[in-house]
Amino acid sequence: MSKFWSSAVKRSDPYIPGEQLNDPKIIKLNTNENPYPPSPLVLDAIKKEADQSLRLYPSPTVDELRNEIADYYGLGKDSVFIGNGSDEVLAFSFMAFFESGRKIRYPEVSYSFYPVYAKLFNIPVEEVPLQADFSIQASDFHSSEGGVIFPNPNAPTSLYLQLEAIEDILQHNRDRVVIVDEAYIDFAEESAVKLLHKYDNLLVIQTMSKSRSLAGLRLGFALGSPELIEGLIRIKDSFNSYTIDRLAIAGGIAAMKDKVYFEATREKIKRTRIWATQELRKRGFNVLPSQANFLFATHPDKEASSLYEQLKENKILVRYFNKPLINEYLRITIGTEVEMDTFFQVLDKLLKK
Ligand code: PMP
Repeated sequence: MSKFWSSAVKRSDPYIPGEQLNDPKIIKLNTNENPYPPSPLVLDAIKKEADQSLRLYPSPTVDELRNEIADYYGLGKDSVFIGNGSDEVLAFSFMAFFESGRKIRYPEVSYSFYPVYAKLFNIPVEEVPLQADFSIQASDFHSSEGGVIFPNPNAPTSLYLQLEAIEDILQHNRDRVVIVDEAYIDFAEESAVKLLHKYDNLLVIQTMSKSRSLAGLRLGFALGSPELIEGLIRIKDSFNSYTIDRLAIAGGIAAMKDKVYFEATREKIKRTRIWATQELRKRGFNVLPSQANFLFATHPDKEASSLYEQLKENKILVRYFNKPLINEYLRITIGTEVEMDTFFQVLDKLLKK
């Protein structure tokens, strides 16, 4: 502890991200990145933008990219907010819609950044246990004091919550904001964006990090009523009006435009997911039915922590959470078919031991 630190720094309990090792030989199945490169149009657009114009500030209102995202969803530009990765959008949302005197609710097993923001911004929490099968029960989220947030599909469980259940949560929190963190939604059935016209308390947060292969560019966005979006803009402008740089804006627009590439890569990942689920089950794993770009799996006879270590020794990185309730599980990002083949070859060797 430093005597110079504010109480906010003292409260902080920073999120520890998954390992980012620089060894190119490593098969990286640990942080749910897309195994395929971004659309070639994205790279062209960034190269084109990397010129004299970098001298100038980017657009503080990011109108062009907001319009592109709004068009994709059939919304108005004033229903779209863009941030530097959805982590930033989440942080701004906690500040804009949650309060220090009112407890917010999120699932006990969900994205581990939520408790970090809550602590930093002094927001009290009620962590809601999941059902025995790891599913979310909507009625547990009725009448929250201060609002609700959950990922859909949930991370790290990979399970999808149906829109009827989300509507139920929205209806029972009319005066509070319900944030649906849809980081993985493009690999799932359907987005809660469909409900926006009915619920002014709904904020949907998405990212270009996963389905659009742009984790390195840091682009996330929120979709909601103009009232909620205005709240986010006010918070952003109180920190930094220019959170999105010129290269990211150019790349993001190109990524939204290239629908053909987007569809092709997400379909490939969904096909590999079905195949990899079957392969894990053949080897005795219990695998949750995933609607994300990762699998959550446990083996009855093998400790998850030692499998994680042994895979790592063999240059395959998966995610292991040393936390109660989930410490028997591995979270495995869907890689390319070739990467997954290697993963299964190594796994077979380890399972024989
Ligand atoms: N929400 C969830 C549930 C996630 O798993 C992640 C990725 N770690 C994020 C948000 C943040 O993604 P990004 O900041 O890359 O948009």
